Amino acid sequence: MPLHLCTPVLHSRVLSELTGLDIWLKMDAYQPTGSFKIRGIGALCEKAVNSGAQAFVSSSGGNAGYAAAYAAHGLGKSITVIVPETTPESMRRLIERQGAELIVHGEAWDEADQEARRLCQQTGAVYVPPFNHPDLWEGHASLIAECQQQMPKPDAVALSVGGGGLLCGVVQGMHAAGWQQVPVLALETAGAASYAAALKAGTCVALAKIDTIAKTLGAKKVCQQALDWSKQHPIRSLVVDDREALKACYDFADQHRVLVEPACGAALSVVHKPEALAGLSSLLIVVCGGAGVSLGLLEAWKSKLHGSV
Ligand SMILES: *Cc1c(COP(=O)(O)O)cnc(C)c1O
Repeated sequence: MPLHLCTPVLHSRVLSELTGLDIWLKMDAYQPTGSFKIRGIGALCEKAVNSGAQAFVSSSGGNAGYAAAYAAHGLGKSITVIVPETTPESMRRLIERQGAELIVHGEAWDEADQEARRLCQQTGAVYVPPFNHPDLWEGHASLIAECQQQMPKPDAVALSVGGGGLLCGVVQGMHAAGWQQVPVLALETAGAASYAAALKAGTCVALAKIDTIAKTLGAKKVCQQALDWSKQHPIRSLVVDDREALKACYDFADQHRVLVEPACGAALSVVHKPEALAGLSSLLIVVCGGAGVSLGLLEAWKSKLHGSV
């Protein structure tokens, strides 16, 4: 049995009225770990166990690490999650509560990741990557396979991009579903616009720094496959600012009574981009969710942005 849930697709009356389009929401915020990540990570871990894996290591202090801890627990295997000092206490507790061994190592993610890879070499444990792996993309593709059964074919699909794993899975799923003509709107915040940068340069360039409240989008460089898809699928990159992403979180909580991370708010903010919606009569938004959010965090981000959301 897969580790993820088949999530509902909602037709949003309020967002449809606002935009004049039929807006469909794929509610992956309802996954047991709060984000779509369990789809790909669950699939990758399950496949690894079928090939004999006994233990896992992850270096993500975000939704990927949490999903990996959940997947290992569900599969009855051990996992070590190595996170940098910057990982918030709330996420450390979530990961530990899944029975994972949590190790804090290094000031930034790169150091934690090096330690994770070293540990895998030393112990033979399987490394769980956050976004760059074909098994992950195959797992994420299930999101579209479900939508195909749940709703009519949309005129476009909007999603957010961090390292590009979600994008790769969704586009792969769209090709399997016969949606290969349907354009994708790929949203990022300005302080983490690594996909926009890659499309502009024509190669996967690394950003000098990440500066956004949408922490989960903070991959300095997207995976090569995300760039390759742009040559085989209509993909449009859109960059929003932190304020727009945060406002979308507040609006979504008010309208749909669900808290999501600013990483997800970036995708939801597409409803305020008339130039991106021109000519469309329906749109599917991937509500990717995120466990790194609370009422307190929303307020903290709001005051960081000087209270004007
Ligand atoms: C991981 C994540 C993303 C970005 O996904 P990528 O596969 O890295 O592009 C967006 N939103 C949330 C909530 C996430 O956890």
